[in-house]
Amino acid sequence: MKLHEYQSKQIFAKYGIPIPKGRVAATEDEAKQIAKELGSRVVIKSQVLVGGRGKAGGIRLAKTPDEAADLAGQILAMEIKGLPVRKVLVDEAAAIESEIYLGITNDRGARKPVMMASSAGGVEIEEVARLTPEKIIKVHIDPLLGLRDYQSRDIAAGIDLPRDHWRTFGLIARGLWQAYIDCDATLAEINPLVITGDNKLLAVDGKMLIDDNALYRQQALSEMRDLDVEAPSEIEARRYGLSFIKLDGNIGCMVNGAGLAMTTMDLIKLFGGSPANFLDIGGGASSEKVAAALRIILTDPNVKAVMYNIFGGITRGDEVARGILAALAEVKTNVPMVIRLVGTNAEEGRRMLADAEMVTAETLADAAQKAVALATGG
Ligand code: GDP
Ligand code: MN
Repeated sequence: MKLHEYQSKQIFAKYGIPIPKGRVAATEDEAKQIAKELGSRVVIKSQVLVGGRGKAGGIRLAKTPDEAADLAGQILAMEIKGLPVRKVLVDEAAAIESEIYLGITNDRGARKPVMMASSAGGVEIEEVARLTPEKIIKVHIDPLLGLRDYQSRDIAAGIDLPRDHWRTFGLIARGLWQAYIDCDATLAEINPLVITGDNKLLAVDGKMLIDDNALYRQQALSEMRDLDVEAPSEIEARRYGLSFIKLDGNIGCMVNGAGLAMTTMDLIKLFGGSPANFLDIGGGASSEKVAAALRIILTDPNVKAVMYNIFGGITRGDEVARGILAALAEVKTNVPMVIRLVGTNAEEGRRMLADAEMVTAETLADAAQKAVALATGG
């Protein structure tokens, strides 16, 4: 789950990281009011969950409250990379002398978190990593020991940070590390961490990604989720505990088990088709869950055929069939369907479905070929 800049920076502030004064606004008037209160030049920043807002015109400097209102109005009317801007952050503008990158993520290869820093901050760090990787300093952190002071000093030295900033930098690095750990983050990033005109360190931008698998114990953070960035079908799927990811193809897939779902998608591709989604209904899915899954698949107008691949172990074939029939009674559709059902109570399930004139298949390959044919009108 992604957090907005303002949310990430509020968390950073709790961990002692200096951030600019500012607040979020949803209207021109609010932006004007905040600019007035700040009584300085302000920066108006679109709060959308994509990078490169600056380049897209979603970050603008304003000298007066009136200009702040005007720019906020413009930015609030924008869409950035397909996402509507619903809020802007109005921050006291910083006089920027230089921009540093500082971030923590998981290094799977090393099986440890890694802190990365660069004096070439501000721009896309991916570009720096690609073109001048030597400009990125990396330090792995032992999760049991945490970030040690000598490590942040090594980083400070590595990016040629002037000595007078080392103490504050150490506190910022430690705060970022603690925020990363406490929030179950998979990324905590300050880009840029700036040195200001009056020679202070300031986190001007902030970004956090939270591990979805930890949200059950991160109640406060999970309530910060912005639903605008997710396909409505994915939100609906989460409500029913389904693992669902929308894709661009035209064959809807309903499968139990993530591995089986991937195999199903591979086979659809092998036979020249293209899956419309990844969907794992999980083990022991109830007919309600199956019905919800089918409704979700069918809301996608691209779906020209649906393929079921159910390997019944805990999930019972008759229960799956009941779910499909219940959903079909509720959602009227002409979309053709093919089903491969094996395992516990599969025969009973198949019989129920045959009565409903659904195409069945013996093998997975057979099912995939039939689905591709149905999707192309065959
Ligand atoms: P991003 O483009 O989404 O990463 O948004 P950032 O918050 O990182 O802003 C992009 C760039 O805008 C920064 O690298 C800065 O150069 C500039 N910027 C952001 N905030 C300020 C500010 O308060 N003052 C000045 N002068 N520039 C800013
Ligand atoms: Mn940035």
